[in-house]
Amino acid sequence: MNATDVLGGTYTPHCAAINPARLVRSLARSVVASGTVIHEHTRVTAIEPGIVRTDHGSVRAEYIVRATEGYTRTLKGHTRTLAPVYSLMLATEPLPDEVWSQIGLAERETFSDGRHLIIYGQRTSDGRLAFGGRGAPYHFGSRITPEQDRNAAVHAALWEVLVDLFPIVSRSSVTHTWGGPLGIPRDWWASCGLDLSTGLAWSGGYVGDGVGTSNLGGRTLADLITGTDSDIVELPWVDHHSKPWEPEPFRWLGTNVGLRVMTGADDSEARTGRPSRLAAMFAKNLGH
Ligand SMILES: Cc1cc2nc3c(=O)[nH]c(=O)nc-3n(C[C@H](O)[C@H](O)[C@H](O)COP(=O)(O)OP(=O)(O)OC[C@H]3O[C@@H](n4cnc5c(N)ncnc54)[C@H](O)[C@@H]3O)c2cc1C
Repeated sequence: MNATDVLGGTYTPHCAAINPARLVRSLARSVVASGTVIHEHTRVTAIEPGIVRTDHGSVRAEYIVRATEGYTRTLKGHTRTLAPVYSLMLATEPLPDEVWSQIGLAERETFSDGRHLIIYGQRTSDGRLAFGGRGAPYHFGSRITPEQDRNAAVHAALWEVLVDLFPIVSRSSVTHTWGGPLGIPRDWWASCGLDLSTGLAWSGGYVGDGVGTSNLGGRTLADLITGTDSDIVELPWVDHHSKPWEPEPFRWLGTNVGLRVMTGADDSEARTGRPSRLAAMFAKNLGH
């Protein structure tokens, strides 16, 4: 990858790019083919032992899995379980070969870098540069609305970072922008587990890395629920309990101050070349 101002890098072959929408659709097709009924547009309002309450009625089950990730705060009693923090993305028009020859990523490698305010990107199968990152504000009371999936200021800031990394991209246009809420536990530690006394199970808190991890969570819960003794049920994230987030206004204050600290730390590190002590202190307080 030929990004500007790179001092060094690491490469791992253990990384893959997928189209998550295709994954979800194929998964739904397989589940339906195996005889399961999916009820879309049915909002769950509360989960209790043996019963899921929805806006269209209740469903009874011996085991209930909560896998609601960034939307968990919509469930009764879960306002402080996971903070919905938005990640936003953009995609360029398909780029010509001469642009790609300057950018690199010939094998469609995905990339990220070491800045505090996370960014990530990849070359799509149709030759676009898809690029995303954090930076969207956290909304008071963990509010989630479809309007938050797009934020002109954050998308503009992401574009600026992308052009800074690959100046040649500035000649291209952005054709798509989107985003969504991630599920962030208070200690940034994803977890899954099953409480045998109530039949309530959960998997989530993937902090934006859930495409692969939710698969592991699903397999682990299948083993826990069927009582299958396997290596994966011994992994350290199983039955880990993160403490709840602070009540408001502290959650709003802490999350947005963190955003500012991390943005400021990136600026100061770029300027001085020294690690930010403030960012290190903040990260320690978050438990990671
Ligand atoms: C812009 C963006 C980029 C990302 N990039 C990556 C990446 O590169 N790599 C990666 O690994 N991860 C990435 N992620 C994160 C990844 O999408 C999630 O971690 C993953 O989707 C989590 O899967 P999940 O099935 O647990 O939750 P989700 O995919 O969020 O699904 C939760 C489901 O629960 C449903 N639901 C929630 N609440 C209720 C309710 N009350 N009633 C009924 N249904 C409900 C929702 O409708 C949804 O269908 C990204 C996320 C975003 C937003």
